[in-house]
Amino acid sequence: MNGPVPVEVLKQHLIDPEICIRCNTCEETCPVDAITHDENNYVVRADTCNGCMACISPCPTGAIDNWRDVLKVDAYAVDDQLTWDELPVQDDALAGQGTIGEAAPGVAGGASADVPEPVIAGSDFVRGSVVPPWSAAKPYVNLYNHKAPVQATVVGNYRLTDASTESDIHHIVLDFGKQPFPVLEGQSIGIIPPGTSSDGRAHHARQYSIASPRDGERPGYNNLALTVKRVTKDHQEQAVGGVCSNYLCDLKKGDVVNVMGPFGSTFLMPNHADSHLLMICTGTGAAPMRAMTEYRRRRRLKGATGKLMLFFGARTQGELPYFGPLLNLPKDFIDTNLAFSRTPGQAKRYVQDAMRERAADVAALLRHDHTYIYVCGLKGMEDGVLQVLQTIAGDAGLDWQALWQRMKTEGRLHLETY
Ligand code: NAP
Repeated sequence: MNGPVPVEVLKQHLIDPEICIRCNTCEETCPVDAITHDENNYVVRADTCNGCMACISPCPTGAIDNWRDVLKVDAYAVDDQLTWDELPVQDDALAGQGTIGEAAPGVAGGASADVPEPVIAGSDFVRGSVVPPWSAAKPYVNLYNHKAPVQATVVGNYRLTDASTESDIHHIVLDFGKQPFPVLEGQSIGIIPPGTSSDGRAHHARQYSIASPRDGERPGYNNLALTVKRVTKDHQEQAVGGVCSNYLCDLKKGDVVNVMGPFGSTFLMPNHADSHLLMICTGTGAAPMRAMTEYRRRRRLKGATGKLMLFFGARTQGELPYFGPLLNLPKDFIDTNLAFSRTPGQAKRYVQDAMRERAADVAALLRHDHTYIYVCGLKGMEDGVLQVLQTIAGDAGLDWQALWQRMKTEGRLHLETY
């Protein structure tokens, strides 16, 4: 006679649709392709997820870190998860009994026979740091969500790019008045655009990096700035009207905006005075670099001694946000290197080209244990920047693979590309 069939309880990995800001970080990070999405939700395939945790730290909101103990045979299918507006409640009878990691049979959404070994933070699957610099201030995260957002008032909105250029990039200042909204440089916020999408659901929040330092866009004020480019085309150059970017770029002074966040607990700046910042960005990816630079500028009077080196790419000078103010910064404060890709009559130049030209100085920073690297902007630049860092390190006699691993685990290499 057969014995009783063991009842297997799975600790199922789920993503909270109420907090998720659909930034795609988890899907990009997952080494086994267990995460997928549609227009509505990001979801985890129970039959593929091996519980390796590679996606947990990079998630800016913590939406990824949700688990339900379920009977393995009843694991939530991808098709169900895609329809959720909120997570299901935990069945008390199963709570605490689940184990992570093995694929659940018969769950819709793909299968993986060869599940790789678990990934640890700092392995090759994770290209940047998943820990903050050791001296970073402690960030506040998720103080407000889409059910209980905070209202901010627009106190400024102006175009940063030349009127003659195609890139319509805005500097938008939001004031939180007496409501607490503590932020650090490198963090981001979620903006909830009003209205609904074509399926009648409320729009999801969109994530924007904060462009001002922790003590306010205006020092001592409870406000912050965003750098927002009006989206008029998709990646295939087809005309689209970006829901949130158009909403933000059209805001008037006095308008009230629903805000979530703050988000982000790793892409943060070091607080120790002799730390060096090597900042590499394209377009609106300049937002966190502006925040860090401005914080260091204000703090400089109070003894910060570390070097700042910036590589900043844009299509043309007129399309580079903050061009004027950037050039006004003293040369002994920040070493600024610009790369323009579409200046008429000139060869295409990317940040990688500018870095190559300054190889000796970049290598000097790489040699220093107190150097922190930040890369923000287009997804496509990430490979190129890592390759040029490898070349510069190699030419300088540094072992890039070892240095790369060390910088990752020491919270000294931060990548934020979309
Ligand atoms: P963009 O104007 O399209 O591009 C900026 C520059 O990067 C251009 O010179 C472009 O050259 C160049 N570029 C293109 N591919 C490159 C590559 N593989 N390596 C190096 N440079 C390359 O940029 P954007 O529209 O402002 O977009 C910036 C990105 O930052 C967006 O993806 C955005 O989501 C992201 N971001 C924004 C924020 C924020 O708070 N707003 C925060 C984080 C990240 P070409 O002439 O070849 O196009």
